[in-house]
Amino acid sequence: MGDDKLHFVLLPFMAQGHAIPMIDIAKLLASRSGTTVTLLLTPLNHIRVKPILSRSSQLGAHIHVEELHFPAEEAGLPAGCENVDALPSPSLISKFCFAANMLQSQVETLLKKMMFPKQSCCLVADMGFIFAAEVSQKLGIPRIFFNGMNCFASLCIHHILTCSNILDTVSGEFEYFDVPGMPHKISFTESQVKAGMATPGNKEWREAMEKLMGNESTAYGVIFNTFEDLEHVYIRHYENVRHRKIWSIGPLSMFDKELAHNNAIIRGQTSSVDATQCLKWLDSWELGTVIYACLGSWSNLTAAQMLELGLGLEASGRPFIWVVGLRNIEWKKSLQQLMERNGYEERVRSARRGLLIWGWAPQVQILSHQAVGGFLTHCGWNSSLEGVSAGIPMVTWPLFADQFYNEKFLVDILKIGVRVGVKRVMEFGKEEEIGVQVHGDEVRKAVEELMDGGGEEGEARRRRVRELAEKAKKAVEEGGSSQIKIENFIEDVRKFTAKKAYA
Ligand code: UDP
Repeated sequence: MGDDKLHFVLLPFMAQGHAIPMIDIAKLLASRSGTTVTLLLTPLNHIRVKPILSRSSQLGAHIHVEELHFPAEEAGLPAGCENVDALPSPSLISKFCFAANMLQSQVETLLKKMMFPKQSCCLVADMGFIFAAEVSQKLGIPRIFFNGMNCFASLCIHHILTCSNILDTVSGEFEYFDVPGMPHKISFTESQVKAGMATPGNKEWREAMEKLMGNESTAYGVIFNTFEDLEHVYIRHYENVRHRKIWSIGPLSMFDKELAHNNAIIRGQTSSVDATQCLKWLDSWELGTVIYACLGSWSNLTAAQMLELGLGLEASGRPFIWVVGLRNIEWKKSLQQLMERNGYEERVRSARRGLLIWGWAPQVQILSHQAVGGFLTHCGWNSSLEGVSAGIPMVTWPLFADQFYNEKFLVDILKIGVRVGVKRVMEFGKEEEIGVQVHGDEVRKAVEELMDGGGEEGEARRRRVRELAEKAKKAVEEGGSSQIKIENFIEDVRKFTAKKAYA
């Protein structure tokens, strides 16, 4: 590859919520002229995305892959555990991050090979790879930081970390405090903000966040999966306070025009249900009547809490699709036992009102179906943005990480969501102790409020999210803000590498 093409080397983190948008970025960059794109993937993650990559190639956007050996066993994880969703227990997440950060020398060697004899390379690395800064410095290539959160959440985290010792002034976990430095009043509880890392105590949380933000500070710039019309206030603030170059190029799920309506397209994983059957089931319901519930690619609710969720969906009287997920075999067994004792699946099946998906769902396709009128989400940023893109209001059920910030953004700022009422972060390893936080009746109430419209307020909520969906569509069209940012991004990197080569 010793030509004058600009070579983007992408390093996605091995978790669906990080890898899916990164693969979308790879597709976008590969579809532009004058670029070469290589993804660095571990063997099992490579297998997962092969169908997406071959479809991209057929469409003329070829993406190269170089494989990395994932040191699972070396880090004390079971062999073959190459993705967060394969972890036997969420408490192993720190070991997983440790393993991912053992990839430094492999990444360095591959990059050196790609740079030979005279190729302009740019490393686009996920926020989870702390070593990326050292690699790019050593090799003298630009590094782009892919921030998987939105600007609002990142800005809150920045201010909480740097502007004061605000967390030392709150007396209890559930006491609200105002985030200093924000463009307007924003309040959180300590419990919600420490969800950033889902670890007990501030010290660990602070250290991890400081490392991550420090890594961002030394990058050439930052890519966000967001768009101008959604959060330009926070994008500008973030640019100013962090002195960062920002390219907001989302919603990434909307660039592939076929994705929403082509059941054959696989995104993330092969669906556990026949997508066509699932959409046929949706066809049998009227416009905007179905609630779709999914807590992302990786949730840690207990089986008892999951049953409450299911009971609430049932009690709402609405047709629903519930992505139960597939955490691990024991979890599945205990949830099935609880359901059997309750007669849940039997009732739901005979009422023909609920569709349960034990595994992976074709989420974007489901959200795009006209029968879907509400989305019960864990507020992962990709899911939140997919809800916005589909113009669907949301019931919010945050678990950990940036999800409480996203809940605030959806409910209080965009005003397109209804809280289910979660107070505590689902700390890893403390799930059983936390137990049931939200009862079925609270789920029912939130779903009813969202789906029955809640009078004028509900109508306004629906109108607002539809307007945002229109704006999202415009952002990814020719001449739209996100299209322009992608062009800017490639141009900026090209100029930067040319300057470096000249120097
Ligand atoms: N997703 C999906 N099917 C599922 C579960 C998740 O397609 O059954 C996709 C979803 O559309 C989103 C991603 O997985 O693109 C999850 O990312 P998000 O940031 O919402 O949450 P995370 O899984 O990282 O907590």
